[in-house]
Amino acid sequence: MRYIDPHIHMSSRTTDDYEKMAEAGIVAVIEPAFWMGQPRTQIGTFIDYFSSLVGWERFRAEQFGIKHYCAIGLNSKEANNQALAEEVMSLLPRYLVKDGVVAVGEIGFDEQTALEEKFLHEQIELAKSFDLMIMVHTPHRDKKNGTNRTMDVIEEHGISPHLVVIDHNNEGTVKSVLDRGYWAAFTIYPNTKMDSLRMVEVVREYGADRIIVDSSADWGVSDPLAVPKTADLMRVNGIKEHDINLSCYQNALKAYRQSGQMNETDWIKKAYDQGQLFEGNSVLRGQIAKKSEI
Ligand SMILES: [Zn+2]
Repeated sequence: MRYIDPHIHMSSRTTDDYEKMAEAGIVAVIEPAFWMGQPRTQIGTFIDYFSSLVGWERFRAEQFGIKHYCAIGLNSKEANNQALAEEVMSLLPRYLVKDGVVAVGEIGFDEQTALEEKFLHEQIELAKSFDLMIMVHTPHRDKKNGTNRTMDVIEEHGISPHLVVIDHNNEGTVKSVLDRGYWAAFTIYPNTKMDSLRMVEVVREYGADRIIVDSSADWGVSDPLAVPKTADLMRVNGIKEHDINLSCYQNALKAYRQSGQMNETDWIKKAYDQGQLFEGNSVLRGQIAKKSEI
């Protein structure tokens, strides 16, 4: 069984994670740009961060047999620093054209401020002009209103809901997101919010037609194996293999393939060699290089 984790912040994770993920069947990941746990203070840190998402991290993942894609955007928390946010907006076009960028994201609301809304509008227009998908972060507080408000904003721009993945759903938001035609993604958290067992019940109730499972693993308490573990739990609880395949692999591919940047052939029959260099550096640190067989 192959899996895709279409929302995970690998820059915060270790090579052990990459090894375990590959072993568990994860063949591709999407890493959306987000905040660092503390506010960035200058534009240069955005430049280096975006550069590493399309550069070093993409290379690093491939050294473990995992194909890496990313979403580039101004996150909603940092939209509230207007001066810096304006600078980030003028930086985004430079990165949205890079190889492996499948979406503008993750964008949306955090505290639902006027500034967050302003930059959400502007980034939706960017996605439109660069023909990219949109990956939406919905707020953890006041989630239902924040999610509906995000969809209202998107619809003002005449974007087809098929081009938008709304993430961090729960039982309270899934119905309206599906009814309005969007992809509904779920971030599986180990202890709080949405867990694997609740996910099983969502698939049982709504089917898996436009449902996507991800881990959103980052520097906080999170699990980079959340997708394969949730798939296993679905199996044990009688969810059909077809629906597991849709929600843990196929739908993410179907959605983000629309960017023209992501294809199944990218990871099928693709070998890796840890002896490769990126700008003169490898992942090896003096260890013996591992190579995969095709
Ligand atoms: Zn995230």
